[in-house]
Amino acid sequence: MPLLDEGNVRGVLCVDRLDRPFTAHEEELVASAARYVLRAIENERVFGRLERAKAEQDHLYAATQRLAGALTEAEVLKAGVESARAIASFDLAAITVVHDGERGPNEVLHEVRAVAGAADFEALVGLRFGDNGGLVAQAVKSRATLPHRGDHDPHTQVVFTRRHPLRIELGDEPGDGLPREADVRSILVVPLSLHERALGTLVLGARRRGAFREFAGEGARTTLEVLASHVATSLANARMLAKLEELATTDGLTGLLNKRVLLELGAQKVRAAARYGKALAVIQTDIDHFKRINDTHGHDVGDQVIKGLAGILRRLKRGTDYVARFGGEEFVIICEETGAEGAVQLAERVREELARTTFHAGSGQSFQVQCSLGVATHPHDGATWDELYKATDEALYASKREGRNKTTLAPGSAGRRAAG
Ligand code: GH3
Ligand code: MG
Ligand code: MG
Repeated sequence: MPLLDEGNVRGVLCVDRLDRPFTAHEEELVASAARYVLRAIENERVFGRLERAKAEQDHLYAATQRLAGALTEAEVLKAGVESARAIASFDLAAITVVHDGERGPNEVLHEVRAVAGAADFEALVGLRFGDNGGLVAQAVKSRATLPHRGDHDPHTQVVFTRRHPLRIELGDEPGDGLPREADVRSILVVPLSLHERALGTLVLGARRRGAFREFAGEGARTTLEVLASHVATSLANARMLAKLEELATTDGLTGLLNKRVLLELGAQKVRAAARYGKALAVIQTDIDHFKRINDTHGHDVGDQVIKGLAGILRRLKRGTDYVARFGGEEFVIICEETGAEGAVQLAERVREELARTTFHAGSGQSFQVQCSLGVATHPHDGATWDELYKATDEALYASKREGRNKTTLAPGSAGRRAAG
C-alpha cells in the first residue's frame, strides 16, 4: 500500500498473510492504516523541525547575550565564531575582517582573525589576502551571503585564497583504513554588514554535503545572518570603545600617555614602591626657550620639536617606564625599580640625544634644541606622589636657573649620594 502524500509516494506499507486473501474491508483498513502512518511520520518531521528551530533560537539567544557582554575586539571575535559553530555544530567557523587602505587607498586586505573548529584550522588565523575573487572577497563587495546554495567544490571555488584550500583532518588513529583528510563540502560566507558596508565575514563550513540546504531550510541561513549582524554591531562597538579609551588615555600630538593617566599611575606606583620597599624615580623635562622656537619658526615647527623629543623619550625609556606629556613641552617619566644613579643616567641620555638632534624649519633652515631636567627618587625626596613630583619640579627649576641644558638631582637623593 503506497503512502501517498499529495500524489507523491513517501513509502510503502507491506501487509502479508499466508492462509487467505484480504477482503475488500481489510484492504480499506490497511489503506487507512497507511494514511495514519503517513500522518505520524509527517508529525514527527514537523516536530523535529520545530525542535531544531527552537534549538537554533536558543543558540542565537545565547550568542547575542554573549556578544553583548564582549567588550574587546578579541572577545567579540571569540564569541562570534564559537556561537556560530554551536548553532548547528558546523565543522568550521571563522571570522575575517577587512583592513581598509593598508595597501593603498583602493586595496582591500582581508584577514582571518578567529577560527573555531578542528585544531588544523587554527593555522588559518592571521592569513591575509587581497581582493582576489574568492568567496570572502566577493561577499564583502556584494554584501550578500554566498554561495547561493551553500555547496562547496574545492576544485572550482576559492574561499579565502587559492593557496589555502579547505581540508578537514579526520581523527588521528592511523591504520583504520579511513582517509586522513576530507574536503569541506558545504560552505556559507555571511557578510558582517553594518551601515551599508561589510566589516568582514562570518565563514561556516561542514564536511556534509548540503549542510546549509537540509538544515531547517532557509532557517539556518537567516539565523546565521542575524548572528552576523550582531557580530558586526558588537565589533563596531568594541572598536569604538578602544578608540575612546585611547583618546582618554593618550596625548593626541605624541601618542604618549596624558597627564590624567600619569597622575593616577604615579600615585599607584609610589604606594607600591612604599609597600614593597622598591626604588622609584621620577624625571621631569622641559624644553629650553621653547617660546623662541615657536616665535622664530612657527607653531607647527614647534609641534615637530615636541614630537621629536617624544620620539627620543620613547626610544630611550625601558619597557617598564611610563612616559607622559604633561602639557606644552613638558614630559614626565616614572621609572620603577630605579635609583638616583639610573634615573640621572637616563635623564642625561635624553638631554644629550635631544642636543644632538637637528630639526628643520620650512624655510630650509635647520636648528638645534636643548632641554633641562629634574630628577627625584622615592622615598628620599618625598614619601607621596605629590611631594615627589614637587621635588622634580624644583630640581628642574634649579636646572633652568643654573643656565639650562642640565640635569639636577633633588637634594634628598643628592645628599644621600654624596654621603654614600
Ligand atoms: P624655558 O627655557 O624657561 O622653559 O623657556 P620656554 O620658552 O620654554 O618657557 P615655557 O616652558 O614656560 O614655555 C612653554 C611654551 O610652549 C609656551 C607655549 O607658547 C608653548 N606651547 C605650549 N603648548 C604647545 C604646543 O602644543 N605646541 C607648540 N608649538 N607650542 C606650545
Ligand atoms: Mg614649559
Ligand atoms: Mg620650556
